[in-house]
Amino acid sequence: MIPAEFDYVAPGSLDEALAALKDGGEDAKILAGGHSLIPLMKLRLAAPSLLVDLRRVEELRGVSRQNGTVTFGAMVRHHEVATGGFGVTSAAAATIADQQVRNMGTIGGTLAHGDPASDLPAILLATEGSVLLRGSGGEREVAAADFFEDYLTTVVAEDEILTEVRIPALDGYGYGYEKFNRRQEDWAMVAVSALVKKGGDGSCADVRVGLTHMGSTPLRATAVEEALRGQPLTADTIAAAAENAAEGTEPPADLNASPEYREHLARVLVRRALEAAS
Ligand SMILES: Cc1cc2nc3c(=O)[nH]c(=O)nc-3n(C[C@H](O)[C@H](O)[C@H](O)COP(=O)(O)OP(=O)(O)OC[C@H]3O[C@@H](n4cnc5c(N)ncnc54)[C@H](O)[C@@H]3O)c2cc1C
Repeated sequence: MIPAEFDYVAPGSLDEALAALKDGGEDAKILAGGHSLIPLMKLRLAAPSLLVDLRRVEELRGVSRQNGTVTFGAMVRHHEVATGGFGVTSAAAATIADQQVRNMGTIGGTLAHGDPASDLPAILLATEGSVLLRGSGGEREVAAADFFEDYLTTVVAEDEILTEVRIPALDGYGYGYEKFNRRQEDWAMVAVSALVKKGGDGSCADVRVGLTHMGSTPLRATAVEEALRGQPLTADTIAAAAENAAEGTEPPADLNASPEYREHLARVLVRRALEAAS
């Protein structure tokens, strides 16, 4: 339970942090809230030679809203996201662990970590948001659909820092967030985010459904979306669409749930989330 020895720096600006990360080479790691990285270090599943702590980098804090998009600095903590009134994003952040974890964990950290059981990655996907990455080669914006590569693997390069998270506010969409776990502070066995826009005639003008812990990355339930788009939003059409929730997924098996049980959960939670969103 004691991490391997490492060096530590806490730069005061993004440029200094980028320089430290580059100098540290391939074994240097960013430290944000530390609530995923430190446990991994204690278990010796990660042994970085250098930690570049972002907590003093003011440029990475703050939330702003412009042209229908909410922009979060990477070091915005889960608590601020949960309590900021950001629709489905707040609803999901409010379910992360307990208050201590939400006080420390960051939106940038949870996305860069790329854990498919985490709550916010599927939100980025369902809202069709994006992230901004800065490295020695400059800055690039990566769409959510291109960001998550595999289990705990994203496109963030060794010398890059995730600096901003951009989430469309999707005004006019109803939303629902359903998370199933054994204890309130646990990770999701499965979680579902749903966003629904009603047309003038009450039909489904648009729908987005995100799935958490149904594969090695967060997923979109595209078969559900295709089944519901353009349909009247009734209990029957929602229930029928939700039956497609597990299509294209590869849910893992663990001590909490078999793949078959996760598929069942996905169908039930998608129906409930769509009902709430409608
Ligand atoms: C007991 C417990 C329960 C939890 N339950 C949940 C839960 O229910 N739902 C949930 O979603 N999460 C849960 N978490 C995880 C929590 O949300 C973490 O805060 C989150 O996964 C990682 O964010 P962090 O800021 O702590 O990142 P860190 O642990 O500091 O970093 C995680 C990884 O991302 C990299 N990284 C961090 N920031 C950046 C950046 N800006 N640019 C590039 N790379 C970066 C780090 O190098 C590291 O590899 C739980 C954690 C604990 C300890």
